[in-house]
Amino acid sequence: GQTQYFRDTWAEIDLDALYQNVKTIRDGLPRETKLFAAVKANAYGHGDFQIAKEALEAGAHGLVVALLDEALALREKGIKAPILVLGLIRPTDASVAARHQISVPVFQVEWLKEASQTMESGNPPLKVHIKCDTGMGRIGLKHEKELKEIEQFINKTDRFEFEGIFTHFSTADQASEEYYQMQLAAFKRLVSVLDTVPKYVHAANSAGALCHCDSLFNAVRVGIAIYGLSTSTERPPLNKVKQVFSLHTKIVHVKKIQPGECIGYGASYKAQKEEWIATIPIGYADGWLRKMEKQRVIVDGERANIVGRICMDQTMVRLPHFMPIGTKVTLIGEQADDFISVEEIAEKLDTINYEVVCTINFRVPRIYK
Ligand code: PLP
Repeated sequence: GQTQYFRDTWAEIDLDALYQNVKTIRDGLPRETKLFAAVKANAYGHGDFQIAKEALEAGAHGLVVALLDEALALREKGIKAPILVLGLIRPTDASVAARHQISVPVFQVEWLKEASQTMESGNPPLKVHIKCDTGMGRIGLKHEKELKEIEQFINKTDRFEFEGIFTHFSTADQASEEYYQMQLAAFKRLVSVLDTVPKYVHAANSAGALCHCDSLFNAVRVGIAIYGLSTSTERPPLNKVKQVFSLHTKIVHVKKIQPGECIGYGASYKAQKEEWIATIPIGYADGWLRKMEKQRVIVDGERANIVGRICMDQTMVRLPHFMPIGTKVTLIGEQADDFISVEEIAEKLDTINYEVVCTINFRVPRIYK
């Protein structure tokens, strides 16, 4: 990838914080519980390879991603740890996954039949995790009969290795327990009908791993919490982890405007008095969305309002007083004694913290500290 950048806008990724977060979460789990770090979607926008490496060093046993492409990209960069793809792959791609020792979810005999027909000989067996739909309604099998059928099919051929069984909770992050308990019971019932329990039995995401010790089985899949972000607004912020992501830029232009002068598209902002206006090189094409119009950023330790509409590549800020070109502006994260959490941004955008970090896109270089 690109190693030199010519723009003063960057996301800073605090790898020490990531390391500590993984270690803290790992240490809070029983010794036998394996932690799989969720590094899908470019590690929630943090950079998949760097996060994968750091998480594994900090005690993660393996990784989960959403796509076969994401798993292959990590293998290509030399990651040897177990990797499980969470989403369905094409049966015709089974050979590629097998060749690279990438585990995949299965839940239909048809898929297995199709896969085994196209699989080339000479590869190691394809490691499969049976996915159970206990209430998420996304992918997975629901009934014991289907499970038995799949288990028997896997066990009668040497093309597949029955490596795991898993499910996913849809309400582990909510205060109410009822739906969660229903899913947990459904999963336990399914696991209990297996002839052989595979190496990995897993259900919990971050909220499960941190808030429901009855959901751990022998592995957990932790995403949001390793990035130091809270699992939901219904849970208190995690005080033992630190936010890994921050977003910064620098003032590229400063000017004094007169009362009545306007700023930005639609001339939607009009100065009431003499004001110092700075321009910063970040906009909605970076994932700094137009809805951030009323947000306050930190400039030289002080909060300053964004004024006017956010443009594709630039944004204007009203300064409390003159500040020179090159002054650091923090849009997310820590500066001086102030801190803008990803959750503060999420609230502004009427969304969840996950979406904020995934939205800051490839155009913003990630700098690792
Ligand atoms: N497991 C599955 C199947 C997922 O889809 C996800 C993420 O959405 C995770 C685990 C990780 O979830 P979290 O980031 O809430 O820990």
